[in-house]
Amino acid sequence: MKKSIVSLIISIFIFGVSYSQDYSYDKKIGAENAKQVPLTMGIYNDSVLSAYVTSVGQRLVKQVDNVPLDFNFHIVDMSEPNAFALPGGYIYVTRGVLSLVNDESELACIMGHEMIHAIERHSVKQMKKKILPGILQIPGAVVGAFNQNLGALISAPVQVGSALFLSSYSRSQEKEADRLGVDLAAKAGYDPSKLAVMLESIQKDVETLTGEEEKKSYFSSHPFTPKRVSYLEKEVDKLEWKPNEPVAGNKEELYSLLKGLCYADNPVQGVFKDNQFLHPDMGFTITFPDKWETQNIPVAVGAMQPDGGAQVLLQLADTVADPDSLGIDFVNKFKKKYKQSPKENKHIDINGNPGYMVMLNDNSSGKSVDMFLYWIRMNDIIYNISGLGYTQYSDTIQSCVQSFRHLTEDEKKGITSLNLDFALANEGETIDAFSKRTNNKWSEEITAIMNGLEKGEVLKDGQYLKIAVEIPYISIK
Ligand SMILES: [Zn+2]
Repeated sequence: MKKSIVSLIISIFIFGVSYSQDYSYDKKIGAENAKQVPLTMGIYNDSVLSAYVTSVGQRLVKQVDNVPLDFNFHIVDMSEPNAFALPGGYIYVTRGVLSLVNDESELACIMGHEMIHAIERHSVKQMKKKILPGILQIPGAVVGAFNQNLGALISAPVQVGSALFLSSYSRSQEKEADRLGVDLAAKAGYDPSKLAVMLESIQKDVETLTGEEEKKSYFSSHPFTPKRVSYLEKEVDKLEWKPNEPVAGNKEELYSLLKGLCYADNPVQGVFKDNQFLHPDMGFTITFPDKWETQNIPVAVGAMQPDGGAQVLLQLADTVADPDSLGIDFVNKFKKKYKQSPKENKHIDINGNPGYMVMLNDNSSGKSVDMFLYWIRMNDIIYNISGLGYTQYSDTIQSCVQSFRHLTEDEKKGITSLNLDFALANEGETIDAFSKRTNNKWSEEITAIMNGLEKGEVLKDGQYLKIAVEIPYISIK
């Protein structure tokens, strides 16, 4: 993270400045990027929980003076604990963050922090300094055109993510979001000391899940250091506040809102078992090459060779036409535009599913690059699989496509989800004994983090604790 003198000057300048600013640019950028969120990250489908998050957010909005922003609040269907703001007042919390909440004030403080980023236009200021990264650094004339059509989808989260929400805010911007965020929460009657509690839970959770300190996720943009805690403590000490009755009256009510919340992968989006992707609702599976980095977003699933030398991407075609006619139509357009023929194009059969494949080759950069396009029909849906990479990866790409097939009944039955539930502890019980008795699937460490406990803590009678239960996924089909 670089800190330039310019950003320091800007943040000193906005320090304490009134909120009356022109937000029309923010609103435009925010609205454009907000459209990408459902496509690239997914919005979690739980109307009751969404309404709750909005209610907490609206309490904070009431305390904001003279900011002509229409704040709106959303739950992102991601297991990583994260929260982010888009310019213009789009505030997002992931289900991963919600699963950590033990007190409404924790949620309010995180949302307050993000609202300040939007109010103070932090990402708009950062954005001007950012350059969008390319997704796949494979050169070539035809590749460029190909990538524009097919790479657009998978590059979207990378572009949106690194250009905007997860852009590294400057340290002074973070400080400001912390300071004004807890102030906002306190004004709305929330305990401002809970921001530090929440940040610590997020940090512990991320470290446990990734086995690394402050990897990606929340902490690449939100460094949480002892310095930040002591700064927060000082700020919180200065605040005078009167507690307000929470939207969810008490802990049981809060927990009943969180009950059933999906933890880890949500099977609705399909799940990975190592590099095998299984989609229970659509009834297909595909196995991506070993050790390739996989990515699953609502509009596509794919994998990339770790050095960026090749990628495979599967998405739905927005058509029900016959694969042969789609393929032949593409070939004709390609010939017309590039005045050359594909290296290969033919009708195919992939595990009983009819399809059409086109292979293109591009040597214009001096290195041979192959491109594959497949249209495959399964259950009256057309799947588009595209592969792009240096020729040395062509066999790998093709055998990946050959793994596309129907899910077996056993595979379907084997798909489960972890859902939040709650149970009462007995006097003197250890976390391990409690977990065994209640069928809690979390480790002792995770159980402690999720409940704000210390590892090895002895439980008390009637203590109401979060657990994760594993239930078979019932496909909507
Ligand atoms: Zn922040």
